[in-house]
Amino acid sequence: MVKVVRAVQQCKKCNVPFSWNNIYRSFWGWVYKPIICENCGMKHRITVSGRFIVTLLTILPMLIFVNFLSPFNNVLLTFSIGVFLAFIGSLLTPFLVRFKGA
Ligand SMILES: [Zn+2]
Repeated sequence: MVKVVRAVQQCKKCNVPFSWNNIYRSFWGWVYKPIICENCGMKHRITVSGRFIVTLLTILPMLIFVNFLSPFNNVLLTFSIGVFLAFIGSLLTPFLVRFKGA
């Protein structure tokens, strides 16, 4: 049997998986907030590579689309779709980003 890899990271202390919501919320705001385990209260911080992944999945697709790929002459439409792409990318980040115990 192939062991199924958990999509979302577990708590370093009690091994309870973080909820998608819990991780997703930590990405919003000007600084990355630590994730606090809903079960035991242990804090986790995003890793440097995790921050890199968040940037890669959100800001980068938006910039590439807005600067190079947009077929539209309408600035507002171009930016709207750019923001939409960033939003889609951000939905995937909780599955890819990893945390370390704080
Ligand atoms: Zn825990």
